[in-house]
Amino acid sequence: MFTAIFRGLWLTLKHSWKSRETVQYPEQKESMPIGYRGLHKLLRWEDGLERCVGCKLCSAACPVDCIYVESEENESSSPVSKGERYASVYEINELRCIFCGYCEEACPVGAIVLSNEYEFCADDRSKFLYEKEDFLVKRNEDYPELKNRYPEEKLLTYL
Ligand code: SF4
Ligand code: SF4
Repeated sequence: MFTAIFRGLWLTLKHSWKSRETVQYPEQKESMPIGYRGLHKLLRWEDGLERCVGCKLCSAACPVDCIYVESEENESSSPVSKGERYASVYEINELRCIFCGYCEEACPVGAIVLSNEYEFCADDRSKFLYEKEDFLVKRNEDYPELKNRYPEEKLLTYL
């Protein structure tokens, strides 16, 4: 019994000299590892047009059916995306999502990606139903961690 007590005391003493690894969240935030899968972002092309062409492949690939997409034809005078169509409705139920990344793997144009953002909370379940405006980025440059996530050579070239 005494051996166990002394071993416990020794362990406590040994670790009391080590540097602390406690992070003072939320004032201090950890940077996420490369490949971390957090909240979704919908990216644009360099000219500002939306990447998403409303093909619904992400929705088909999602194992928990938490993506809903409706698409419409682009008007030639004011296109929203570079394809024939664009996503007029794009919703993700972030509560149901299991952050598997299948949606970004399935997307042929690198439109939907999982970002480093891990902070999301709400006081009502309905607030976890994200609409397109909630995750469509204004500028890709605001998310530098996503820059090399999907190199251009990985994208299909049907556009
Ligand atoms: S990360 Fe997985 S579960 Fe979440 S929306 Fe994408 S495919 Fe669906
Ligand atoms: S995010 Fe990609 S896979 Fe999903 S509808 Fe848009 S283009 Fe298609």
